[in-house]
Amino acid sequence: DVTATKGNEFEDYFLKRELLMGIYEKGFERPSPIQEESIPIALTGSDILARAKNGTGKTAAFCIPALEKIDQESNVIQVFSLKFPICAVVILVPTRELALQTSQVCKELGKHLNIQVMVTTGGTSLKDDIMRLYQPVHLLVGTPGRILDLSKKGICVLKDCAMLVMDEWFTFCSQADKLLSPEFQPSVEQLIHFMPTNRQILMFSATFPVTVKDFKDRYLPKSYVINLMDELTLKGITQFYAFVEERQKVHCLNTLFSKLQINQSIIFCNSVNRVELLAKKITELGYSCFYIHAKMLQDHRNRVFHDFRNGACRNLVCTDLFTRGIDIQAVNVVINFDFPKNSETYLHRVGRSGRFGHLGLAVNLITYEDRFNLYRIEQELGTEIKQIPPFIDQAIY
Ligand code: ADP
Ligand code: MG
Repeated sequence: DVTATKGNEFEDYFLKRELLMGIYEKGFERPSPIQEESIPIALTGSDILARAKNGTGKTAAFCIPALEKIDQESNVIQVFSLKFPICAVVILVPTRELALQTSQVCKELGKHLNIQVMVTTGGTSLKDDIMRLYQPVHLLVGTPGRILDLSKKGICVLKDCAMLVMDEWFTFCSQADKLLSPEFQPSVEQLIHFMPTNRQILMFSATFPVTVKDFKDRYLPKSYVINLMDELTLKGITQFYAFVEERQKVHCLNTLFSKLQINQSIIFCNSVNRVELLAKKITELGYSCFYIHAKMLQDHRNRVFHDFRNGACRNLVCTDLFTRGIDIQAVNVVINFDFPKNSETYLHRVGRSGRFGHLGLAVNLITYEDRFNLYRIEQELGTEIKQIPPFIDQAIY
């Protein structure tokens, strides 16, 4: 039922019993919003272009319909008395790590289904892959180049492939990670040509590149577009200011650290130098702290970001590096150590995606020079930033 949306249960999708068992055994009780939106539509056979934040459950949103689509009885070739699976689903991902991770999810969800899953990516022996494909598979997870190589050699046969999934085809990492980058796109398109014309295409990502439009028009013109990327909002976030002098800021921050119940915090400064200096001060005060700024190499930044996201550290000091803010669920406090110059920057630092309805606290350290900006930003965003009270109820963040 395509019209069913909110409040769904996995039972509502009439999945194979064995698949439902796998879902519950993985600990999923009910579908996440992106799953709620995509699974019923994917099950109808429609193409989908879906966009949702990282960590919202996109993998299962396509693995579940993919596993449902593979039929152990009919997706086989019978040679005399022997039955061989045919490749009914291909999942394209940009990296080897993601391929392994995704295949793991497929195996877990499909634990009670008798489905053969294989991972094939560049950087490993082609010969080994060829040997392994003598044992045919139902579901292939891998990077486009290698799967194309195998298809050209006639080892991987895609003429009965019913579903193509493209996941994370535009991640926030490096250029090379993008499935629709100039490097990958030709392989992806050639691969599609090995598949039947009635194949279903599901594309999932947190970001949409501009190039997707041409690709969509060409290969999935009638696709459903699902976009769960909410506008940033200040709803649910209690905002305070504290008037301070520049030289009192560190002291003030120290007080905040001791008084607030911080799960994770992000502290914004207006310059690279100040980020480094402040991070040093915070460490000296005895609080754990990472920092990220624009002068750090991308790899290093990504590493710090991921470690922070994984909870390796409580506080992160940074500049306005991420254009759309950092949406990490565990962050309950944002501190503007330096107050931003305009309302857009303020919103990106403090605002969050409203859909998750998380509560949060924003504390702004305001110097004499910032006063005017404070009132202006408050007006422009139609929000209220109140003077910080001596006691803050923990329940509001
Ligand atoms: P994304 O690809 O959107 O970044 P993932 O597919 O990696 O997100 O899922 C993020 C986490 O959420 C994973 O640990 C996954 O097991 C978990 N998850 C996914 N769907 C559900 C669900 N319906 N209920 C509970 N946890 C889920
Ligand atoms: Mg993902």
